[in-house]
Parts: sequence; C-alpha cells; structure tokens
Amino acid sequence: MNGAKSRLLICSCEKTMPLDAQAIGRGCAANVTQANQLCGLDLGQFKAALAEGEPITVACTQEAPLFKEVAEDFPQVPLTFVNIRETGGWSKDAATAGPKSAALIAAASEEMPPISLVTLESGGVALIYGRDEVAIDAAKRLADRLDITVILSNPGDVTPRSVNEFPVLKGMIRNASGHLGQFELAIDDYALPSPSSRNKLVFGAARDGATSTCDLILDVSGGLPLFPAHELRSGYLRADPRDPAAVERAIADAGNLVGTFDKPRFIHFDESLCAHSRSNIIGCTRCLDLCPTGAITPNGNSVAIDPAVCAGCGSCASVCPTGAASYSLPSADALMRKLRTLMQSYGKAGGSNAVVLFHGGDHGDALIDALARFGDGLPANVLPLRINEITQLGPETIAAVFAYGGTGVALLTRAKEKHDIAGLCARLRRRSCPHHRDRRPGSIAGDARCHSQRHPGAAARELRRARHKTQRA
Ligand code: SF4
Ligand code: SF4
Repeated sequence: MNGAKSRLLICSCEKTMPLDAQAIGRGCAANVTQANQLCGLDLGQFKAALAEGEPITVACTQEAPLFKEVAEDFPQVPLTFVNIRETGGWSKDAATAGPKSAALIAAASEEMPPISLVTLESGGVALIYGRDEVAIDAAKRLADRLDITVILSNPGDVTPRSVNEFPVLKGMIRNASGHLGQFELAIDDYALPSPSSRNKLVFGAARDGATSTCDLILDVSGGLPLFPAHELRSGYLRADPRDPAAVERAIADAGNLVGTFDKPRFIHFDESLCAHSRSNIIGCTRCLDLCPTGAITPNGNSVAIDPAVCAGCGSCASVCPTGAASYSLPSADALMRKLRTLMQSYGKAGGSNAVVLFHGGDHGDALIDALARFGDGLPANVLPLRINEITQLGPETIAAVFAYGGTGVALLTRAKEKHDIAGLCARLRRRSCPHHRDRRPGSIAGDARCHSQRHPGAAARELRRARHKTQRA
C-alpha cells in the first residue's frame, strides 16, 4: 500500500460476498473502511475519505467511472481501483479468500513505470493489392478517403473505367517491408495499362525490380501474406477476396488508417549488452530465431529491433541471455516488485499454497469474470496476475514465484494464441505439460502448467484439481 495513512475502502457488493477485513488489514498497511454499497448508499464513506486527502484504494473496478467523477474536485488525491469480487469474492471459496483479497489490493498499489510510446504517422497513401474487380471495387469505396494505387497480380479480364480516379497497374509484390506509414515494396512484372484499353485492361511491357512506398496496404489478392505473423503488422490488412464480409471489414479498417497512431514501445534494447556477434563470429541468435514478426534484424555486432514492427510478444526478452532486450510493459523489475508484494501480502494475511495465475489482460479478465459470474469462481489460493502477454514471462519470473513462497504457477492461455507460445513452453520446460504433451514441447517449471481452455469452467476445474494436488503434496 501507499503507506500507513492510505485509505482502503472495501465493499461487500450488496452483501454478495464476505469481507475478511482482519485478513485484509494484516496484508495491507492501510486504514480499512467496510461498506455494503459503496457506489450508492455508502457513497458518503468515499466522499469522507476524499476529504482526508490521503491516497485511496477502492476495492471495486466496476464503478470506477462513478468514483472518478465524484473525485473530480479532489485531483490531488491518488485513486487506485482493484477487483476483489470476480477474482476472489464471487467464488465457491469466498469465505477463505481474505488473504487473496489482501494480496490483490496490495499488489494493485505497486506503481508501474510510465509506458513509452512509438508514434506512427499515416498520410493515407494506400496500395490495394488484388487480382480482379474485388480490388477495384475496394479502391472505388476508399478513393474519397485515401490516396489509392491498385496493383493487380496476374490480372484476368478487368473492364477499364471511363474515368481513372486512381491508377490501376499490373505487378507482383516480391518483397514487402515496413509498417503503417512506411511500407517499401519491391515489385516484379510491373506494367502500366494502355490508356486506349477498350473492352479489357491491356498492359504494356513489364519489368522486374520496380519499387514503391505507401502508408498502408490492403491485400485482397488471395495469395500468401506479405508478412510473417501478418495479422500483427500495423497498416497491413488482408482479406480473402472470396469472403465479402472479410473484405468489408478490411475496407472499413483501411479507411480509418489516416493520421497519427501511438503504440507502446514493448522492448527496451541496450545494444552494448547484445552478444549477437564479435569478430564476424555469430554468438547469439536467440531473439532472431523466435521473433514472429521479423522486427529483429542483424545489425553488425548486435541486432536491431524495430519498435514500429514489434508486436510485443516479449519472446525476445524472455530468452535474451544478457538482458540486452528487456520487456517494458512493465519492466522485469516492476513486475518483480508487484509479484513480491502480492506474495508477501498473501503470506502476511495468512494465506498458504499460493498459485499465481498469469494471464493476458484482454483474454484473462473476461475469462475470470465469466468464471465468477457463471461458475465456481477462482479457488482461494489462486492469485491472478495480469500481464501484457504471457509470452513475456521469462524463467526468472516463474522462479521468483517459488522463491517468494508460492507452490505453483499457472498460465492462462487462449484456445488460439495471439502469439505462438511454443517458445514459452520450451524454455520453461522441466517436465512435459499435460496440456501440450502431444502438440507442444511443454510448459512446466516446478508446479507451473498451462491452462489452455475454450470454456471457462474447464479452466476452473483444472485449477481446482491443481490446488488439491498441491494441498495433498
Ligand atoms: S517482443 Fe516479440 S515481436 Fe517484438 S521484437 Fe521481441 S520477439 Fe519480436
Ligand atoms: S537474444 Fe539478446 S544477446 Fe542474443 S542477439 Fe538477441 S538481443 Fe542480442
């Protein structure tokens, strides 16, 4: 917590969950106030806390917008919100979830460093890559918003337009690099159409090795993607030309890609620590081997990481032996601090057999929410910890859970991962993960295991089974 004077407001959410104020008080150094409807009948308690002027932690995230509005006249009072309802109170184990609540509250108060951003600028110069009228129609739809060029690979019979609002060329993209606002293309079989094309476009002499630049690419060619992990490449939109709904979505997305866009700088890179090469002898290629997007390239003695291409999986940082590549969302230090506070507060509050459940935010929060609302909720000893991507986890973080007294680590994965977790599984392996034994190299470190479930109930059953095993051990 933010010191002994901070105010902690906990709420039973209309008595739908028990509050173990004693356990919470043991785990968190704060003045604890209890309420049953803090967002309504007991709102006065929040207002009274604001008047004290000390930092406030509210154990409710659902009504955070309301509390922020009420606090508008107190901009000097730092507010922190933490969810102890779906993560602990709405559970079959609610009666014993006090230590977990204490741990989650204490961890929420750990300050995370500010996020550094990368800015991408798109002037709306678009290349539409296709093979037939699907590309031409998309260009017509976007011509009032984007500066369009259409390139058709192996065009069939394409009817010439009576007014050429945008150029339609022939070509085959041989190589593409870059990102939103800065794509570079190498094009073979490049040819201009004859202006006298009558009943179908007729192209002149073709040449190889043409180059072009653009801000964004809409690919409806139906061919292979132009980039590895193409769905993660900013500014590259791809749709199957036989799927009208997908083409519609891509057109709508393309029309919005004009202006300035910020994305997090996921990786901090210290070139001086990189062991890629010395005296022309290659020493380390770990990050190059794993990066799914091609953001990392050799650059003399070190590698270079393009932050505009990086999609933030964290695989490079988790395997880097020297710390040259480190994750920034949050940094390893900050994550370790949060983890330590989580575990220490859980212990102080009387908890035991802690299993830390790492999960990505967008997927994990929804799954945990569903477990609480429609199932048995999380077991009392399972401490959810949201991170940006589970692939950012390195062995040092997993090991830290055990060093801080935990008895298990669980990774909540998606049925279909955004980033390939094979690397994570491989580098954490101590023995084979039961979920991936047949398909993946495994993901176990000590008592760590993956929970890759389509249905939330299945994930909960797995976690409860794991807990019983841990308690018997
Ligand atoms: S975080 Fe992932 S996408 Fe970004 S550079 Fe590292 S390995 Fe590549
Ligand atoms: S894993 Fe680390 S040391 Fe190895 S090449 Fe990449 S950045 Fe350099």
